[in-house]
Amino acid sequence: MKFGGTSMAGSERIRRVAGIVRRQQAAGHQVAVVVSAMAGETDRLVNFCREANPLYDPAEYDVVVASGEQVTAGLLALTLQAMGCRARSWLGWQIPIHTQEAHAKARISSIDAEAMIAAMDAGEVAVIPGFQGLSEQGRITTLGRGGSDTSAVGVAAALKADRCDIYTDVDGVYTTDPRIVARARKLKYVTYEEMLELASVGAKVLQTRSVSLAMKEGVRVQVLSSFIDEESPLADTLPGTMIVSDDDMAKIVEEHEMESQLVTGIAHDKNEARIVLTRVPDRPGAVSGIFAPLADASINVDMIIQNVGRDKGETDVTFTVPQADLARAQALLEDKRETIGFNRVITDSKVAKISVVGVGMRSHAGVASTMFKALAERGINIQAISTSEIKISVLIDEDETELAVRVLHTAYGLDADVPAE
Ligand code: ADP
Ligand code: ASP
Ligand code: MG
Repeated sequence: MKFGGTSMAGSERIRRVAGIVRRQQAAGHQVAVVVSAMAGETDRLVNFCREANPLYDPAEYDVVVASGEQVTAGLLALTLQAMGCRARSWLGWQIPIHTQEAHAKARISSIDAEAMIAAMDAGEVAVIPGFQGLSEQGRITTLGRGGSDTSAVGVAAALKADRCDIYTDVDGVYTTDPRIVARARKLKYVTYEEMLELASVGAKVLQTRSVSLAMKEGVRVQVLSSFIDEESPLADTLPGTMIVSDDDMAKIVEEHEMESQLVTGIAHDKNEARIVLTRVPDRPGAVSGIFAPLADASINVDMIIQNVGRDKGETDVTFTVPQADLARAQALLEDKRETIGFNRVITDSKVAKISVVGVGMRSHAGVASTMFKALAERGINIQAISTSEIKISVLIDEDETELAVRVLHTAYGLDADVPAE
């Protein structure tokens, strides 16, 4: 069981979480619980690091930001004990959850769950702070923002758990962020691949890495609400959204005679920025000259277009980078102006990437043209396009994000009859 930041924000909510844990235990389960820091706490800790030293050492950053989860893990163990339930906390270094060295974005390498399993066998609830691990050097690491989801999936895999229930502040995965589109529909099932694409293009309901780990380890993941009471159906009745394999999805569609959807979900991401280099020489090696230095600096380039049509063998190159890396990317490019041979760098961080995702795209044509037509009808200009096998993304003006998501949601027939509460 994993509980996110909103679910753990304050004593009253932690009591509700403890109640849910106790109910699962009473239903005959052994449970391990992974918790996030209280909502807003990690942001607050990140700010302290920035104030202390703008060029902070990631290893010390991890020492600071990992602390939020230690507090909630201890508090949940105490609350469970107060309810007469045996429980203890297991910090990342105590289990231990081994990770690689990359501070602030470490990957889990292995989890030695033996001692914890023995304690669980003896009837104790294990409470684990999410987000944190132990490096090969014996130092505290963290798994990147939203990383408690990945902790939960990792622990579930190590325990060979029947299921990994991710409790959050919505009751499942929706066709799009239900906080933006009131007519978003809850999905009963979504495939790992679709969830992976949705998460990676901005649906922050699960950390991307948690989905790839679940897919790799075959962990059964359910997303469900923690804002429930004693009368609510047990998690075992699968009230939330189940993440399933392609094969299972095919069986489910057949059994329930469901119509398979072309598009499963829509996500948006406002964290990208656009860069245009004008009048780049149109010759072999020019593009490599632009992107090699960015790659060397670990700056992820996402969408790329090379515009044609300029005379004199010149072209404009447009691409996107994470907003957080924009200043660095711009400085790097300015440095290489002579070698690359461009005229100007134009940047814009007021852009948003809107993506539609669905495995149905593999076998159906016309998904992209529906998207372009729907956006054009509302006068929304497309600045860049990128596609994968099951995803189409467009870059637009940030101010048009909500409108675009709504318009596309309707265009692909995803609207629910009744708006979500
Ligand atoms: P937690 O603190 O529990 O980890 P998060 O804030 O990380 O919760 O993720 C839950 C949030 O994800 C929801 O409140 C919702 O606004 C957002 N979200 C974005 N896209 C979706 C989607 N497709 N389905 C459900 N929730 C989504
Ligand atoms: N507390 C961490 C964060 O806010 C990890 C998590 O909640 O998943 O990023
Ligand atoms: Mg989260």
